[in-house]
Amino acid sequence: MLSVEKNVSLKKLHTFNFESKAEYFCIISSKKELSEALVWGKERDLSIIVLGKGSNVLFANDIRGLVVQIKIMGIELFSQDKDNLVVNIGAGEDWHQLVIKTLDMGWYGLENLSLIPGSVGAAPIQNIGAYGVELSDRFDSLEVVDKTTGQYKKMNLEDCQFGYRDSFFKRSGQDQYVIVSVNLRLSLKPNICIEYPALKNEIMRHHMQIEMKHDRNFEDYLTPKMISDIVCFIRRSKLPDPMVAPNAGSFFKNPIVKSEDLLGLKKLYPDIISYNFCKENMKISAGYLIEKAGWKGLKRGGVGIDERQALVLVNLGGSAQDILSLANEIQVSILEKFGMTLEIEPRVYR
Ligand SMILES: Cc1cc2nc3c(=O)[nH]c(=O)nc-3n(C[C@H](O)[C@H](O)[C@H](O)COP(=O)(O)OP(=O)(O)OC[C@H]3O[C@@H](n4cnc5c(N)ncnc54)[C@H](O)[C@@H]3O)c2cc1C
Repeated sequence: MLSVEKNVSLKKLHTFNFESKAEYFCIISSKKELSEALVWGKERDLSIIVLGKGSNVLFANDIRGLVVQIKIMGIELFSQDKDNLVVNIGAGEDWHQLVIKTLDMGWYGLENLSLIPGSVGAAPIQNIGAYGVELSDRFDSLEVVDKTTGQYKKMNLEDCQFGYRDSFFKRSGQDQYVIVSVNLRLSLKPNICIEYPALKNEIMRHHMQIEMKHDRNFEDYLTPKMISDIVCFIRRSKLPDPMVAPNAGSFFKNPIVKSEDLLGLKKLYPDIISYNFCKENMKISAGYLIEKAGWKGLKRGGVGIDERQALVLVNLGGSAQDILSLANEIQVSILEKFGMTLEIEPRVYR
């Protein structure tokens, strides 16, 4: 049954841990409760703000309206053929637990996306990605409810318009829908994807150690579970744990430039880090730019830039406004130094 509370602190419900209060708050564990909450909000003319596990949001103020935290659970096999299967997952499931569960079941494809914090329902919002794989690569369809009409409908790959940390839900569909479940298409046969440089390097390092002990070939032992373990190892060694240093992961998206512009940049900065993007475009490492501009490890009052990963802004006891001021200073400095605009990745609620 729907239970709505008033003036609820969101501090522990998002990984930045800033103090912020929701005017109204409820936990949603079924489609029925979600429909009731939408009606409840509509009757009172309230905005509905959707929250998963709060790992990609910044609450810069108290939130007016009804915050609904999605905890619709369930992982079910939807269909299967000789090589592939489609699994249906409730939006409230924990993303990393899903990755582990699918690997245990022998359902492959999510291993590169291990240890990304958050819920399954939020994964399509910014088309989560890491180590050369994006959600869209494994996506089949999802189910949403329209916040205004209360109607449920299915959306396929084309409808979701996925892009780099982007989707329909961050553009024209923003704040219009609540995702209730996601269908992912996984493989029954391992199909390892290790082209991403940081992953490949770590695997090679690992391989050297194993080879010295057993004289085995690379392909003989590399399993999706091992990829997952290596991804977890890299992430733990590179990223600050939000439980220790509250943060929302990458604070900026990597800027996209034309390949010809990258050539010019390479003359000035031979060690610049870039990744293939699409057609004639390249992604530039925003972390590289921020580090090169001298921001890495810098502290400003109660906030700062992480010492290991310049792309991560951390809360050291300050305020969300401090984070936004620091982010603005960084954006100005990167624009001046490199002529590039850094776009903020987490959703900021002002
Ligand atoms: C340490 C750290 C590392 C990270 N690493 C990565 C990474 O490697 N790659 C990557 O892509 N991201 C990364 N992130 C960002 C984050 O993990 C993802 O964006 C994740 O999908 C957010 O899930 P969430 O449940 O916490 O979403 P929330 O923060 O709760 O919400 C994010 C947005 O999605 C909306 N939303 C949430 N659930 C729903 C729903 N069911 N229906 C409709 N809208 C919804 C919210 O309204 C909000 O706008 C990282 C974050 C942290 C803290």
